[in-house]
Amino acid sequence: MKTIGIIGGMSAESTTHYYARINAQVRERLGGLHAAEVIIWSLDFAEIAAMQEKGLWKEAGVRLVDVAVRLERAGADVILLATNTMHKVADQITAAIKVPFIHIADATAEKIKAGGLKRSGLMATAYTMEQDFYVGRLRARHGLDVIVPDAADRAETHRIIYDELCKGIVAESSRTAYEAIAARLVGEGADCLILGCTEVGMLLNQTNVSVPVFDTTLIHADRAVDFALGGEARMAAE
Ligand code: GLU
Repeated sequence: MKTIGIIGGMSAESTTHYYARINAQVRERLGGLHAAEVIIWSLDFAEIAAMQEKGLWKEAGVRLVDVAVRLERAGADVILLATNTMHKVADQITAAIKVPFIHIADATAEKIKAGGLKRSGLMATAYTMEQDFYVGRLRARHGLDVIVPDAADRAETHRIIYDELCKGIVAESSRTAYEAIAARLVGEGADCLILGCTEVGMLLNQTNVSVPVFDTTLIHADRAVDFALGGEARMAAE
């Protein structure tokens, strides 16, 4: 089994979901007492969020590169950046490490294409919904049509992520608000929904959205397990 390195803490809340999912997947695929080999470096998100607000992306990237290199040195065979938003600096990270980096948008797009879906609604931070690094990649590299909520819904989606979800607060009123935003995207023609922020799964999932849901946290974690196990999972099943 290969070792998964996670640049985490963005937020700490979503990193716990990665850890749980990765281990659940390894247990499911290998059975018995099997668990994943994981190294997590969990950052103080306040520091990163402050840099985001000031537009200090390059500086935040330097911080994340430092962590990625430390994880590689500690023995990680693959690196995950456990946030969609910070994939804005993914190129800085991949340039600094030798081990593979699993890009969250690519892993998600592959799943969407495999499902034959074409027009994705996207709920994420304002950075992810409004800047080109994410939506542009889905469009240019993967040929997906992406639609985002209107300005008011984007602001509310973003606010709930930072004011509540990243702090571990799950409010039913926010779940209702998210369900309504998702429904409006479906009304505008979305044939599926990308939970494009690693905390959005705390409020939305396949039970309360009417179109296929692609939860980036789960997809990203599962891809890491595919990598870590290679042929091992198949061998155990045979
Ligand atoms: N975890 C979130 C994401 O996937 C937001 C936190 C961050 O800005 O990194 O985008």
